[in-house]
Amino acid sequence: MSHDHDPHHPRQGHEHHDSHEGHVHGAGCGHPAVEHDGHVDYLHDGHLHHACAHGKVEEHVIAIGEGNPVACTPRHACGGHDAAHVHGPGCGHAEVPHGDHTDYLIDGHLHHPHGAHCDDHGAL
Ligand SMILES: [Zn+2]
Ligand SMILES: [Zn+2]
Ligand SMILES: [Zn+2]
Ligand SMILES: [Zn+2]
Ligand SMILES: [Zn+2]
Ligand SMILES: [Zn+2]
Ligand SMILES: [Zn+2]
Repeated sequence: MSHDHDPHHPRQGHEHHDSHEGHVHGAGCGHPAVEHDGHVDYLHDGHLHHACAHGKVEEHVIAIGEGNPVACTPRHACGGHDAAHVHGPGCGHAEVPHGDHTDYLIDGHLHHPHGAHCDDHGAL
C-alpha cells in the first residue's frame, strides 16, 4: 500500500485526509479554530482541517485573493510579536496554508516572513 498524498503539497479543493485517525476536531479539541468561508476549520500541524458532517476530514487552503493578498508590506508593524522573532517550525505561532506557501497566524491575521519584516497577508 502506498499513498501519493504529500502533506507538504496539499492540493486545492475538497480532499479527504487519509491519515487522521484517533482525533476529532471540535470545540475545545486543542487546535486553534478559525473561520473560513462561513465555516469553522482547525489549524493542525500546518494544515487547515475541516471536520465534515460524515466524520471525514477535509484539507482546506486559504485562497489568495482580495481578502488575503500576497503583498509585500514592509511597513507592517502590528506589534503581534517581538521584532526579533523568527517564524519557523515550533516558533509558537499556528501555521496556516495560504495558496502555495505557509503563513503564521498572529492576532487574527496572516504573517509571512520576508527578510527582516513580516508581510501582512490579510485577516483570517
Ligand atoms: Zn483538533
Ligand atoms: Zn475551510
Ligand atoms: Zn486535523
Ligand atoms: Zn515583504
Ligand atoms: Zn501583523
Ligand atoms: Zn512565529
Ligand atoms: Zn500568505
